[in-house]
Amino acid sequence: MATIFTFPCGGCGRRYTVYYPKALLYELSGSGTRQMGQQEDEEDARTGAVEAARRRAEAAGNIWIDAAAVQATVCACGKRLDLNIAHHPRVPQSKTAGRGRQTGFVQLPTKPAKPGAPTGGPHGRHGS
Ligand SMILES: [Zn+2]
Repeated sequence: MATIFTFPCGGCGRRYTVYYPKALLYELSGSGTRQMGQQEDEEDARTGAVEAARRRAEAAGNIWIDAAAVQATVCACGKRLDLNIAHHPRVPQSKTAGRGRQTGFVQLPTKPAKPGAPTGGPHGRHGS
């Protein structure tokens, strides 16, 4: 499975789906070697996993970016987007190590919980 992150532009909210090849992730996270990652990347490309992810992203109206080719881009709104995963704290940790290969679709949490959301908080204790 291809590893992709989807996040909104902080300036205008356009959604970007970024594909991070495993060769890149393995090297950064230390969970494998670049060579191991390249093999998986080739497999993802060959099986169409990357293409399928791209089609899903584009069908949802997201902008698709291959992080192997693009480390930074400028949104149409003018905001500079840094795609270099090494600059972000949430580098996926060895999800593939020891647990089979089921990395799949990873989505960053884009919003914090809403303050007024009905979470069964202080007002959720109506007895019967
Ligand atoms: Zn933008």
